[in-house]
Amino acid sequence: MRPALFPLLPFAADETTCSWAARMAAFHARSSVGTFLRDLNLDPHLMALGDRDEIGRLCEIAGQDPRPVLGNTLTRLKGSAHALGRDMMRTILCPATRIRFCPACIALDDAASVATNQNPAVHRRERLIWRFRPVRTCPHHGVDLECRVRPADNHVMGAFGEIGPGSVHLLTSIDYEGELRSASSLQRYVAERISGNATDHWLDTVPLEQVVRFSELLGAILLHGPRTFLEDLSEPELCAAGAVGWTNVSHGEQSITRALHVVHAQHHFDVGSKARSFRDTFYNLVEEVEYYPSTSPFRALLRRHVEHSALN
Ligand SMILES: [Zn+2]
Repeated sequence: MRPALFPLLPFAADETTCSWAARMAAFHARSSVGTFLRDLNLDPHLMALGDRDEIGRLCEIAGQDPRPVLGNTLTRLKGSAHALGRDMMRTILCPATRIRFCPACIALDDAASVATNQNPAVHRRERLIWRFRPVRTCPHHGVDLECRVRPADNHVMGAFGEIGPGSVHLLTSIDYEGELRSASSLQRYVAERISGNATDHWLDTVPLEQVVRFSELLGAILLHGPRTFLEDLSEPELCAAGAVGWTNVSHGEQSITRALHVVHAQHHFDVGSKARSFRDTFYNLVEEVEYYPSTSPFRALLRRHVEHSALN
């Protein structure tokens, strides 16, 4: 039986669920995504929350294989917590009220709309990796992501509405301005994990939230001392901390241990003359891993060192 929506506007492997719904609204109905979904007897609010049943119904109506769509679905759990597959995230997502984009990627989307003589809203995709806070630079174009207030669904067509570059000339101008820079290795790892690519890394089975938080905190401690809290860092400082921490975390347990011992040797006499224990020196890091499940390698590593320092 032919699906209710025809022809199929295929889901792109790198886009968010809401991006695809908004592109279909522009393609099939030339309307906002809210109007489009309600006309299909679907609930826009549930779609925005990443309700998997509602998204499955949209796939059925569109004739789209639901697996890649559900694989890219961020499902709201509680408060700011979301799930992407089996990965749970609290702090590494950008606020849902903001939309981030690479102007060069959007310019390419616009070029596709010009080539097909279609509305730009049909082609402008919100990439899933743009939803993640550690991804600050486009891995394809080396330009910083821009951030705007996310347009309200009931007023605009497409995921971006009127925001973003208006012409394909932007890509050329960025090329000539020579502002390209490469994404940090932590950013690249996060982007690879989200894209579902096999990275063959020892951290691949560790929840992404833990990998990012632990890398950023370890880097912050290495750069600014053991009593540093992530909440006190500016965005550039957080980016630098993530890059430094990742250098140690990515090389495994011995590398992390070495870094901690160097910091402990430098700072365990910071206040007064009484030497502080490993636990006291790394109070905030020990507190952080207490939130991790007992299976976490970071939690096991820290515990081992706290117990070892208590015996000596
Ligand atoms: Zn780009």
